[in-house]
Amino acid sequence: MRRAVIATPNTAPLLPKLAGIVGPKNVVTDAADMQPHLVEWRGLYQGRAQCVVKPGSTAEVAAVLKLATETGTPVVAQGGNTGAVGGQTPDDSGRAIILSLQRLNRIREVDAAGSVLVAEAGVTLQQVQAAAAGVDRLFPLSLASEGSCTIGGTLATNAGGTAVVVYGNMRDLTFGIEVVLADGRVWNGLSKLRKDNTGYDLRNLFIGSEGTLGVITAASLRLFPRPCAQATAFVAVPDPEAALALLSRAQGEAGGQVTTFELICRLGLDMVLAHVPGTRDPLGEVSPWYVLLEIGGRDEAALGAGLEAMLAAAFEAGEATDAAIATSLAQRQLLWKIREDLPLAQGGEGGSIKHDISVPVSSIPAFMAEATAMLAARFPGCRPCPFGHMGDGNLHFNVSQPVGMDKRTFLALYGEMNLAVYEVVARYGGSIAAEHGVGQMKRDVLPRFKDPVAMDLMRMLKSGLDPLGILNPGKVL
Ligand SMILES: Cc1cc2nc3c(=O)[nH]c(=O)nc-3n(C[C@H](O)[C@H](O)[C@H](O)COP(=O)(O)OP(=O)(O)OC[C@H]3O[C@@H](n4cnc5c(N)ncnc54)[C@H](O)[C@@H]3O)c2cc1C
Repeated sequence: MRRAVIATPNTAPLLPKLAGIVGPKNVVTDAADMQPHLVEWRGLYQGRAQCVVKPGSTAEVAAVLKLATETGTPVVAQGGNTGAVGGQTPDDSGRAIILSLQRLNRIREVDAAGSVLVAEAGVTLQQVQAAAAGVDRLFPLSLASEGSCTIGGTLATNAGGTAVVVYGNMRDLTFGIEVVLADGRVWNGLSKLRKDNTGYDLRNLFIGSEGTLGVITAASLRLFPRPCAQATAFVAVPDPEAALALLSRAQGEAGGQVTTFELICRLGLDMVLAHVPGTRDPLGEVSPWYVLLEIGGRDEAALGAGLEAMLAAAFEAGEATDAAIATSLAQRQLLWKIREDLPLAQGGEGGSIKHDISVPVSSIPAFMAEATAMLAARFPGCRPCPFGHMGDGNLHFNVSQPVGMDKRTFLALYGEMNLAVYEVVARYGGSIAAEHGVGQMKRDVLPRFKDPVAMDLMRMLKSGLDPLGILNPGKVL
């Protein structure tokens, strides 16, 4: 790695030089126009910046970063500003420039035969899904933010979502990436190869690096055959152990085509029914836990029959007590609405302390029992509302405030409760940041839970790739 050496810092005003690179109208300094880029979508993080720069090509990104290195200017890459850990928000020093990738919005290539799609960083996830569908292929990443989040942002956070159980996360869905380094050099790693063992895995170094090691400008993405049919069920299960047994049964019988396995607690369903108009309980009897289960395949009739037979065996084994199978698209959408609107519904119950965590799939029941008991003992009256991607081990182990408690008093417990839950996560060999990343939210707590040697390796990589520390300073490390 060649190190950038600054003999004489360039002190000439930055803004005219940026305007010279991207054109004056693509350097935004007006306060009102900058505001949406300075505040995160929930209002949890707010910062200041010199300007928002909107390059329109990889070459322009490279020139901006070269200038940033010459002037020691911090650069905060930003896509759709939907990130959940404050990674896309600048600090409040006002020194940074925000590098918006939204004008890099071209799909460069769609190759159905090769199952590859090459998209620039600012293309939204929904646009990529649509382009894949246009050639009868599937790009399987699916998030509630897909209309706004960008390919660059999903790569930089290694986004997950509801289909990771079968398709994996962004790392698994990517052949290659194009990256601009801090000094302005471009690494063209837009490989389309499934096999390439020519040394270190650079692609996976930048994926998940949250804008701290380089700026991703394009990616070659993996496409899949489109499942022609889907069978969707909302299944009542007595407890998380039974949910685990059902997962194992479904994976065994569906030949690896379980595309969704989402756990939902009864409190979560009650919150949705109370706060989301147009929802109803899909089942007659109350159960403490539910699973939203979806299986993909090619033959609709065979799929439906297979799902029914599998559920009948699960009833017999005591793994499930009731189930509703969607028989129309509208019914399927209603089942999905319960899961997708759950985070929103939680807001209707006052304060919620969130934990985006993962543990090994088989440890989920034991983890939840221990974490719930700990919460009851240390935070009396709080209401755990766990839900999420049980099929891949990632739970949103969220905790709602006690009924009647003042919201601010409850949220003052945020840090203390996070640490208490993370201690339990660590005992199960889990991760404190399963899919949303570290950003600024978990930066300070990360060293307490990550292997010290891993932390050292991360610092070495950061100083090697970004010796001046201009790339998204204060995030991750
Ligand atoms: C309603 C909702 C639901 C969500 N559901 C999920 C979910 O199920 N699973 C999940 O994983 N996430 C989820 N998220 C979080 C979020 O959508 C993802 O993190 C998304 O990947 C961020 O994309 P973005 O374009 O908005 O990135 P931004 O928010 O703009 O940026 C996120 C991070 O990536 C960096 N970055 C952005 N673009 C680049 C680039 N081109 N090069 C280098 N760094 C870059 C930023 O600096 C920042 O650190 C959800 C968010 C919302 C609002």
